[in-house]
Amino acid sequence: GDDSTVCITIVGASGDLAKKKIFPALFALYYEDCLPEHFTIFGYARSKMTDAELRDMVSRTLTCRIDKRENCGEKMDQFLKRCFYHSGNYDSEENFTQLDGKLKEHEILAGRISNRLFYLSIPPNIFVDAVKCASRSASSANGWTRVIFEKPFGRDSDSSAALTRSLKQYLEEDQIFRIDHYLGKELVENLSVLRFSNLIFEPLWSRKYIRNVQLIFSEDFGTEGRGGYFDHYGIIRDIMQNHLLQILALFAMETPVSLDAEDIRNEKVKVLRSMRPIHVDDVVVGQYKGHTRGGQSYPGYTDDKTVPEDSLTPTFAAAALFIDNARWDGVPFLMKAGKALHDRRAEIRVQFRHVPGNLYNRNSGTDADRATNELVIRVQPDEAIYLKINNKVPGLGMRLDRSNLNLLYKARYAKEIPDAYERLVLDAIEGERRLFIRSDELDAAWSLFTPVLKEIEEKKVIPEYYPYGSRGPVGAHYLAARHNVKWGDVGVDE
Ligand code: NAP
Repeated sequence: GDDSTVCITIVGASGDLAKKKIFPALFALYYEDCLPEHFTIFGYARSKMTDAELRDMVSRTLTCRIDKRENCGEKMDQFLKRCFYHSGNYDSEENFTQLDGKLKEHEILAGRISNRLFYLSIPPNIFVDAVKCASRSASSANGWTRVIFEKPFGRDSDSSAALTRSLKQYLEEDQIFRIDHYLGKELVENLSVLRFSNLIFEPLWSRKYIRNVQLIFSEDFGTEGRGGYFDHYGIIRDIMQNHLLQILALFAMETPVSLDAEDIRNEKVKVLRSMRPIHVDDVVVGQYKGHTRGGQSYPGYTDDKTVPEDSLTPTFAAAALFIDNARWDGVPFLMKAGKALHDRRAEIRVQFRHVPGNLYNRNSGTDADRATNELVIRVQPDEAIYLKINNKVPGLGMRLDRSNLNLLYKARYAKEIPDAYERLVLDAIEGERRLFIRSDELDAAWSLFTPVLKEIEEKKVIPEYYPYGSRGPVGAHYLAARHNVKWGDVGVDE
């Protein structure tokens, strides 16, 4: 409101994420009048830049939504006037004290509470240094100070716990905002709405009616020269342990007491803590290899100069997970994530059980599997929710086919969907914690994946190689078949 100011400092402002995501998200919020009236944005990094140079850099990545082209240039100028830059080291309290001085100049409007948000857009090995300096030398004197982090939050239970312990030397739990940007995606947010505000879904949401749930993530490009970071983590840590597991927890949780952040996160933690330890036999790992097709050559993962030649790091993984509670006992939750596959998508597929004694399957010889209902929630691209149903083909005969009840967002809503970062930054400013990861959630997520990651690494499991641009290793199909599952994204009627 009117009585407070907020200073947003992007630490690592010279970097890729700041340019591509954070500044554009802040501008979009500004355009929508979502930022507090009195706000100031500071970029902080080691690179030497003037305010004008920062504004020039930022201005090149700002865009206006298609439906908001009016006054766009004017709005951009107003926004850029409120962006400033301070150059300093990440481990220098002196440099952060100088920043503090500059922030105060913008906060002097007497009697106002001055709140401060730090967005750490820097490599994880310098998180703790930056937090130490920011909290000791540039905390708000009379308002809140919050810090946003991006993964990686460690690379196993021990390193993650050590990071949390270090952060908590300088920050309280309620100052820590761990982003999982999948939680900011429109269709992931909608998951609870779909389930808890429609009578027709919630009663079916259990082992009684659901055969299996699939969480699928694929990218149609590889590391392309930026594999150095990735090689240290691999696809299981990069996508499964966080993004897919978060979606699973939201999908499977019991009805929360309310929509308050603590109530929702309590339910998610319960799901994570009810999960069966993952057996190494229930994980398939793969790595993409180079090949030539139609005169064009596609690089393999280890052709990336930033990746060691003998790297066994998985760029693909599939896993079968189970939740040992009353609702989900015996229902496989299958995850699949990979780079350099044939398409780009993120979706949740829910396959329902067969219709008992189905009249229409008796003599028709149709594949019973094909005739079951499937609910698909496509998170990206082309956001959609569709339900596969059996339908009579119009005409005198009795022939069935599978059709989709289809809610395609771009057909239904003439609105561009905000980027996940917009929602997350706004929530952090407003203190809404629902979409951020609490420390105990993070611990539970690592406890689930750490043993199997250790086993894969200690045994030096050789990944199954798959060609760049393919559907991934065939092992994923054998894994699914062992649990009586067929991947929904490879069917003929897809
Ligand atoms: P980046 O460009 O590599 O780094 C951001 C800034 O940090 C750089 O401009 C550099 O600024 C400083 N920096 C880089 N390496 C450093 C080092 N070794 N020691 C000290 N300072 C260093 O990273 P980014 O792509 O913007 O990503 C920022 C963070 O978000 C990373 O932790 C990354 O893992 C995470 N993340 C990124 C993406 C993405 O799409 N890029 C997505 C999800 C998460 P100065 O040299 O000017 O100080």
